[in-house]
Amino acid sequence: GKTVVVGGVAGGATAASQLRRLNPECEIVIFEKDRDISFANCGLPYHIGGEVAKRSQLIAATPESFGKKDVTVRTYHEVIEVNTSENFVTVKNLKSGEIFEESYDHLVLSPGGRPRIVPALAGVPENHVLHTLEDMDKIMKYIDDEGIQEVVVVGSGFIGMEVTENLRMRDIDVTLVHRNGHLYGHIEEEMAAVLQQTLEDHGVTLKMNSEIDRVADGYAHLTTNEKIPAPMIIQGIGLTLNTEFLRDSGVDVTDRGLIPVNEYGQTNIENVYALGDIMETNYLHAPEIRANIKLAWPAHRMAYTIANHIHGEYDVKFEGLLGTNIMRLFEYEIGAIGLERKDVRGIEHFVIDNQQNFKAGYMEGASKIRIKMYVGNDGTILRAAMISKSGVDKRLDTLAAHIRAGGKAQDLINIEVAYSPPFSSPKSDLNMVGYKAI
Ligand code: FAD
Repeated sequence: GKTVVVGGVAGGATAASQLRRLNPECEIVIFEKDRDISFANCGLPYHIGGEVAKRSQLIAATPESFGKKDVTVRTYHEVIEVNTSENFVTVKNLKSGEIFEESYDHLVLSPGGRPRIVPALAGVPENHVLHTLEDMDKIMKYIDDEGIQEVVVVGSGFIGMEVTENLRMRDIDVTLVHRNGHLYGHIEEEMAAVLQQTLEDHGVTLKMNSEIDRVADGYAHLTTNEKIPAPMIIQGIGLTLNTEFLRDSGVDVTDRGLIPVNEYGQTNIENVYALGDIMETNYLHAPEIRANIKLAWPAHRMAYTIANHIHGEYDVKFEGLLGTNIMRLFEYEIGAIGLERKDVRGIEHFVIDNQQNFKAGYMEGASKIRIKMYVGNDGTILRAAMISKSGVDKRLDTLAAHIRAGGKAQDLINIEVAYSPPFSSPKSDLNMVGYKAI
């Protein structure tokens, strides 16, 4: 059979290479509307800061390397329509303007999203976004060409925060503009307050409860009537999903532009699959709640599931998500697992808030880890958020494994931790949370 893939980065490229690994014979064609495929989006901020020294380290595969595996990659080719009754897509070659049809037996949709733009910044030459390798190249060139010493970052989602950190690594001054009073909105306010202090400690100027109203003569005018120098602006305020081209295709798309899929990644149409930032699935531990997690793990995991299903392997299923996430901001690590806070509010629960040293208190460098856990009345761990200077990844991964295995909050007392003073405590913080849940 022949598989056509729409989008050649995280979800699309992974699905194609997994399918090729399983099946050396089948025909695979990837259409990518932009210049590059298969780059490490997640690594982009760290090349700006220099922690990823070489640009080439961010490129996992190229059309040529896919070609060697007999996967056809067409960049600058946009799929503009899908005909699911006759199984073909309509493609526009963005270089030549040529439009043609390409048939498929299986269609895999991984078109992701594109950065949203504040209206006041549309068409403003100083304004940048960071979503693709091309964006990163433009940002780095602009910094060099213009001798940029200060940047205004708009938005405090993980991209805004990571960009801020990495600009500071290069000693570039940053002013962070955020529209409300709660930085990094998907994490609890009391933890975001720690981030706020950390940003200030690292010389970042914060403009909270404000937005850019207009940009003129190198200055950004804020809604607070302030005027700040803005020789360069980088904004990260979320995504618009690239699912408009499916409007008349018969593939179900929700009001929010999401595509619901089943445990094999199938849409409402049997031979059409969807994955990545556009997919809507459910939570593993709360299956009645729909999940859309715009992160790399869900895309990779679903790519594997879809490749198996196309190959006729039906035992591999997508179980649902926990939304496990983490970010570093200077010396802090912050992350969460489980439902969003708005979903937790709709379920009866109690809250455990635990603070203790992340390792033995008498060790040099010991400091607090704070864990806030939301527990359903039956002990289900609905959500946990945490912040610390060390060990957040370990706790989150432990919780991910624990919840997946059906573990409840009170069972955390039985997690036998690896203890010696540089690492934890004989009664670790996760154990303590368990005791508090009983
Ligand atoms: P994408 O990787 O965005 O790929 C979609 C591709 O489809 C695009 O290249 C697009 O041009 C193409 N396309 C769209 N429409 C069409 C069309 N009609 N025809 C042809 N091609 C089309 N996640 C984490 O888990 N951890 C992180 O630390 C992390 N950091 C990130 C940092 C940055 C700067 C960014 C941008 C993302 C980060 N992510 C991170 C998120 C993660 O990269 C995404 O969740 C993931 O890339 C989603 O994969 P996708 O295939 O859905 O979309």
